[in-house]
Amino acid sequence: MNHKVIIEPFRIKTVEKIKMTTESERKKLIEKAKYNTFLLSAEDVIIDLLTDSGTSAMSADQWAGILKGDESYAGARSWYKMKEAVQNMTGYEFILPTHQGRAAEHLLYGRLGGKGKVFISNTHFDTTRANIEFSGAIAIDCPIPEGLIPDLDYPFKGNMDVKALEDNILKYGKENIAAVILTVTNNSGGGQPASLQNAKEVGEICKKYGILYILDSCRVAENAYFIKQREEQAKDMTYLEIAQKMFSYADGTVMSAKKDALVNMGGFLALKDEKLFESLMTTLIITEGFATYGGLSGRDMEAIAIGLKEVFEHDYLHYRITSTTYLGERLKDMGVSVISPIGGHAVYVDAKAFYPQIPVEQFPGQALAIELYKMGGIRAVEIGSVMFGSKDGNGNFVPAKMELVRMAIPRRVYTQSHIDYVVEVFAELIKHKDKVKGYKIVWEPPFLRHFTAHFEPVG
Ligand SMILES: *Cc1c(COP(=O)(O)O)cnc(C)c1O
Repeated sequence: MNHKVIIEPFRIKTVEKIKMTTESERKKLIEKAKYNTFLLSAEDVIIDLLTDSGTSAMSADQWAGILKGDESYAGARSWYKMKEAVQNMTGYEFILPTHQGRAAEHLLYGRLGGKGKVFISNTHFDTTRANIEFSGAIAIDCPIPEGLIPDLDYPFKGNMDVKALEDNILKYGKENIAAVILTVTNNSGGGQPASLQNAKEVGEICKKYGILYILDSCRVAENAYFIKQREEQAKDMTYLEIAQKMFSYADGTVMSAKKDALVNMGGFLALKDEKLFESLMTTLIITEGFATYGGLSGRDMEAIAIGLKEVFEHDYLHYRITSTTYLGERLKDMGVSVISPIGGHAVYVDAKAFYPQIPVEQFPGQALAIELYKMGGIRAVEIGSVMFGSKDGNGNFVPAKMELVRMAIPRRVYTQSHIDYVVEVFAELIKHKDKVKGYKIVWEPPFLRHFTAHFEPVG
C-alpha cells in the first residue's frame, strides 16, 4: 500500500510533558520576554521550532549506550567506538573529538587562518564565518545564483558556484586560500542540498591549485537523501555510500554531532593528513581535553557512534525529509510563500510576502514569529532584518536581503499531529493577517542583537 499519512518509524517509550498555555497567557508571556522569542522560557513553548541543533530525541539504543559509556580518561572503549564510526563514515583516518562543531572549527580554521588568508564556501555558516573572521582571515561565499532565488525550484540550490570559486582563487592567489569549505546541506541557504557532482568538481579545482578541501558535514545524511532522489548516478547507492563518496572527494571534515549524529552535544574534526592532525592535537589537549575524549564524556561518544549509524537508515531519513516537506507543502497550499523546494531540516516562510503592510524597518519576520507564539505557542526564529539588518554611513536603515521566519524541526521529537497543529495555527494567522502591525527595537546589544534585543509593538 502506498500510504499518504506519514507515520513515525518509531514507538514512544518515554514522554516529556508539554505545558499547555492559553492565548491570553501567551500574550503576557511574550510581552514579558520583550517580544523576543529567544527570551521566552522553553517551558512556556508548546512546539519549539527554534532550532534542530542539539534538540534530537535519542533512541533506546543510544540511551542504553549512555549506560555503557566508558568514562576512562585515556583510551576509553567509547572513544574507539566513536572513532570507528567516524572513520567508517568519512574514510578519514585521523579523528579529533570536540565538545561541539564550533570547537572543531576554531581548532582548524584558527590554525589555517590569520591575516591575509581567505576561505571560500558555498555559504559559511555563522559560527564558521565568526571563527574565520576572528582569526583575521576573510570568508567569501560562492553560492550558485539559483540558490539565491527563494521560490525557484532547482534540485541542488546548495551547490557551490565553481566558476566563482576558481575566479576567487585566481584573484586572491592560491597560496592565500586557507581552505575551501562545502557545507552540506547548506544551512544558511535554506537547508538546500549540494550534489555529488558539485562536491567532485569542487574537489578537482582544489586539487588543481593544491588547496585544502573541507566538508562541513553537519547534515550529510539529509543531503544524501536528496542526492539519492535527485541525482541519477546515485539512485542505486545507499545513503551511507553516497556520504562516503562525498567525503572521498575532500581532505577533511568538521561536524557538529548536534545535527545528524542524533545527539544533544558533541562534534569532531576528521582529516586525511597526519601532519595537520598532529599539529592540532596539542591545541586540542590544551583547549578541549585529552585526544581520546576532546570535550566529551564517554557516554556522549557512545551515543554519537550509535547515532551516526541510525541516521543513515532509510525509514528514518524518509520520515525526516517527508515530514519537513509536508509542513512546507501544506503552507504553500494555503498560499503562504516559503523557500522552495523545501530543505531538509527547516521550513522558511517569507514574512514580507505574508505581511505586506509591515515595512521592513518594522520587522515583518519578528511580527510573524510573535504571532506564531501568541496564537499557537509555537517558537520560531526571525532570519531577516533583526538578524542581518544594518545602518549605512548616514545612519539609514539597510534591510536584510530577505525577511524570513525559520521553523527548524527537531529530529524524532514531534509527531505528525504536532506538525498538523502548526499548519492549523497558520490557517488561523492567515485570517487575521491584515491587522498585524510591526515592531520597533527599544534596546539592543552591540553584537548579535537578535539573541537579546528588546522590542515593542509599533502604533
Ligand atoms: C550547527 C552548525 C555548526 C556549528 O556547530 P555547533 O555544534 O553548533 O557548534 C557549523 N556548521 C553548520 C553548517 C551548522 O549547522
